[in-house]
Amino acid sequence: MIERLRHLSIRVKLRLMLCTVLAVALLMACFAFVGLEFGEQHEVELARNATLAEVMTANLASALVFQHADAAVETLAALRVRQDIHGAAVYSVDGYRLAYFSRDPDAPPPRKAPPRGNATLGEHRITVTPVMLDDERVGTLYLQSAQPNVGDALLKKALLSLVVLVVCSVIALMIGDALASAISRPILSLVEPARAFSLGKNTRIRARKYADDELGMLVDRINEMLERIEHDTELRSRNEELRLENARVEEVAQARALFLANMRHEIRTPMTAILGYIELIADSGTSVSERDTYTEIIRRNGRHLLDLINDILDLSKIESGRLDVEMMPVQLADLVYDAAETVRVKAAEKGLAFSVEFEGALPVSIETDPTRLRQILTNLLGNAVKFTTEGSVQLRVGLSGAESEPKLEFEVLDTGIGIPEAQLSSVFDPFAQADDSTTRRFGGTGLGLAICWRLAARLGGSVSVSSEPGQGSSFLLQIDPGPLDGARLVEQFEPRTAEPEVDDLSVLTGTGRILVAEDGIDNQRLVRAFLERAGYQVEVVGTGTAAVETALDAWAREEPFELILMDIHMPQRDGYGATRRLRSEGYDGPIVALTARAMKGEREECLAAGCDDYASKPIDRVRLLTLAEKYTRSD
Ligand code: ADP
Repeated sequence: MIERLRHLSIRVKLRLMLCTVLAVALLMACFAFVGLEFGEQHEVELARNATLAEVMTANLASALVFQHADAAVETLAALRVRQDIHGAAVYSVDGYRLAYFSRDPDAPPPRKAPPRGNATLGEHRITVTPVMLDDERVGTLYLQSAQPNVGDALLKKALLSLVVLVVCSVIALMIGDALASAISRPILSLVEPARAFSLGKNTRIRARKYADDELGMLVDRINEMLERIEHDTELRSRNEELRLENARVEEVAQARALFLANMRHEIRTPMTAILGYIELIADSGTSVSERDTYTEIIRRNGRHLLDLINDILDLSKIESGRLDVEMMPVQLADLVYDAAETVRVKAAEKGLAFSVEFEGALPVSIETDPTRLRQILTNLLGNAVKFTTEGSVQLRVGLSGAESEPKLEFEVLDTGIGIPEAQLSSVFDPFAQADDSTTRRFGGTGLGLAICWRLAARLGGSVSVSSEPGQGSSFLLQIDPGPLDGARLVEQFEPRTAEPEVDDLSVLTGTGRILVAEDGIDNQRLVRAFLERAGYQVEVVGTGTAAVETALDAWAREEPFELILMDIHMPQRDGYGATRRLRSEGYDGPIVALTARAMKGEREECLAAGCDDYASKPIDRVRLLTLAEKYTRSD
């Protein structure tokens, strides 16, 4: 029972309490009232009988003195009007009955006077009183009356009390209800914020205050407490955020510091080689064959340095959101073979088997940014060859994914050193290398994969890795090949053998006059040397304005230059301005721009300004002579 009570709501408990208290109070009041009434009724009856006896004795005194039975009978007969009197008798002093009256002839009052006092006889009350005259007892009066009927009256009153009890209970319940909700409402209003708080949901909910009583004070205190807890929680979470932020900053700072340390090493190593071997070449004691070897070393180191700088520029461009991708139709096989060519020779040098495999039906043409796709593939293939000492490197190309959202997959598999599990998740982070010894053993900046990761996302795909240390690695590049409905799919691609790279400079000779517009003295010398050694006549100017004047002059003299090599960044008038000016004058000879490829959209801007082609700096001798040969050819 008590257990069940514990589960009742406060509202119900208050109701019950009120009803119980009220019922007990009312019942006790009823009992007291009825008891009191009972006593009172009794006394009233007794008093009535006493008065009657007094009146009767006064009237009977003379009849007794003179033993006048008739007079006594007459006096007693007057009692007949009183329905509650059943019988009466008078007794002389010696105790004998003088006269009597009885409603029941079978039960007359006793012949002898009973002892004085009150007694009960069946349903009747007997009152025996002396009859006095001048302080002398002259006889006895006997009265037999009905027991005072207090029951009926009492029953009525009890019923009335019950009705009052019920009515009072209903009113009390109604008042109690109002009181109960005045207590339970503020208590209930504490539940919601407490629950929200404990669930960690909305910590801003507050309990509602209904009155300025003790419960109101409780609500105030609890609200204050919630406020303080919320404040503390906020403070704690802010501290936590700050701590995490600091840890992040610290991590980035550490990564940067490590990166800079790597970078210093990476830049200084080739620079030391370049400067050192230049000194050796300059040494008069160096033989021709040694000079060739040293020159090759200098070239290799210079290229490495250039790669490094390009990586840094690329990454910073991507990080600052300035890298644009240019989607265009691309011949899949051409692009794949182009990328493969960059490592084929290196793989052969290391004795690695290298193969390209096209799997299943593949689109002949896809839509992507060829430069960026080639860059990713070259990087993955370069790493595969770099980190493999024996075995093979494989490039597999295939289609995957749903028909509605196909993905072009390039998988680069190698049998190299692999990547330890702990480092797998971070190889795509910038500046991350599997471990420091990798840098010492294989070189590299730890930027290549970070760039690949970001470029893959720009091409609508991703790159992932799985690897087994000592067994090899597999890098999977997925990209969006563009819409393929209606695209021609083929099962077989023509295997392409490498077009031999032109490294025989003797084939890249030519004749003709070339105007070189370039402001840097060292570059002027270099370009002049490359071109003149290949057989061209070279005229060099240092500004865009001079370039326009010289070119137009020669053109007016009908001796135009066969080719203009136009540096883009020049004082006074830059290469774009000079080219636009020449084209606006109607100049239609070939103009090839020399650009520093790191600048955004430079290639497009060159072509838009009116250039026929472009070559990126640093100037590559073969590329320069190939272009010179192409544009000075007389046919
Ligand atoms: P890095 O210029 O150092 O090669 P990357 O970002 O290309 O920079 O690669 C990051 C690191 O990932 C490398 O230093 C190497 O530890 C690991 N790695 C990348 N490719 C391979 C691979 N094919 N086999 C083993 N390790 C690899």
